[in-house]
Amino acid sequence: MRIRFFCPGCQRPARADAGQGLEWQCPACAHAVTFRRADADGTPLCPLCGNHELYRKKDFPHWLGLTILTLACLAFLAFKAVYRQWTAWAILIGSAVVDGVLYWAVGDVAVCYRCHAHVREFPRVANLPPHDLGLAERYRQERLRREQLSAEQRPPG
Ligand SMILES: [Zn+2]
Ligand SMILES: [Zn+2]
Repeated sequence: MRIRFFCPGCQRPARADAGQGLEWQCPACAHAVTFRRADADGTPLCPLCGNHELYRKKDFPHWLGLTILTLACLAFLAFKAVYRQWTAWAILIGSAVVDGVLYWAVGDVAVCYRCHAHVREFPRVANLPPHDLGLAERYRQERLRREQLSAEQRPPG
């Protein structure tokens, strides 16, 4: 499994190989993590925080799809302006096909509701449910409460 995450110590983005028992240390803040793959009973879990609730998402960056679409629209308008109708349409339709093929060809990635780690090659990723707004909201509340708590415990100043 490969994992993309934010360092729990300093929130810097990081990538690592998240095999069972593998260790990772943050180059910036020296925070250390030991990854886990699964529970004692074999249930796959988030390698970073050990959470059971993850969702499935296409491993396709949203900005890439939008960029292709935007460029295609600009090219479409440019060719249409110089009366190259067929070229214009070919570009527009071609880009839609490229977008579709890319989307279909990329694999699924598992995302942890709690720590937002993105895990590739997650076991049985196809069985994971898609993103659920209610669950995400529950985790957001949980995080807010945790942040509030740690803010209260911190000594003033
Ligand atoms: Zn760090
Ligand atoms: Zn997690």
